[in-house]
Amino acid sequence: MFTSIAGRSVVVTGSSKGIGKGMARVFASKGARVLVVARDQAAAQKCADEIKAAGGQAAAVSADVTKWEDMQRMADAAVKQHGGIDVLCANAGIFPAAKLADMAVETWDEVLATNLKGMFLSIKACLPAMKKKKGRIVITSSITGPITGLPGWTAYGTSKAGQLGFLHTAALELAPHNITVNAVMPGNVMTEGLEGLGAEYLKKMTDSVPLRRLGAVEDIGHAALFFASDEAAYITGQTLVIDGGQVLPESLTAIEEMGT
Ligand code: NAP
Repeated sequence: MFTSIAGRSVVVTGSSKGIGKGMARVFASKGARVLVVARDQAAAQKCADEIKAAGGQAAAVSADVTKWEDMQRMADAAVKQHGGIDVLCANAGIFPAAKLADMAVETWDEVLATNLKGMFLSIKACLPAMKKKKGRIVITSSITGPITGLPGWTAYGTSKAGQLGFLHTAALELAPHNITVNAVMPGNVMTEGLEGLGAEYLKKMTDSVPLRRLGAVEDIGHAALFFASDEAAYITGQTLVIDGGQVLPESLTAIEEMGT
């Protein structure tokens, strides 16, 4: 039985939908007070309202992770409304696809500004409040970049691998403050965005996963919850792959040999 995290203040960037929303829901379902963060105020508020309707505690703030002032305002909102910051899920990310030769320079910059610099800014802004608590930082990286490749996603893969470079040194710097820094590495997770790609695409993706289903956003939320728990207090600078075994097959044959 894990120690309760009820009443803890949790900030989740990029939580109006997708994985971040799953994280927000999981933390709220365990009694945490969640700050839902996204640029679209209405979407963030809708997520917070849904959490409250389900009996949880949540507030919403519109903030852009690429803007330092916004991240400071986000941290201030968590402190004012929820009494501090115990947990930050640095989750906001974008993944526009473009092959290397065709990629606009602006696309490269936008991906790194959001996924890499945005992660840094959100963490930096929350640090003063987290130093007063047993801080927990959970970064949403990916299998794409650190482990696998996917044509069209050089910028994205760079940003997700870069997050792990950050992780190792940040964990060292923050250890004296009892703040742990870990990363979840999702495989293909069923989000609103993925649904739009069509049944055939989803079937192909599902067929490449040994556990024969795409991840649910709650699968990633539960991994983040573990890193945020008291029981994970001695784990820092580490990663957890949550992918249904997706990175395991060494070839298509390996998948075929598994049978149905
Ligand atoms: P998603 O469904 O597109 O949701 C992205 C969230 O981030 C939204 O709430 C969006 O709201 C917010 N966001 C985007 N840019 C932002 C910015 N500049 N400032 C603040 N919020 C911003 O994405 P997802 O699939 O859940 O992905 C979430 C994270 O998981 C990303 O870091 C991604 O790399 C990672 N990941 C996803 C998968 C997957 O299969 N889905 C797999 C591995 C890793 P606004 O647009 O309103 O700001």
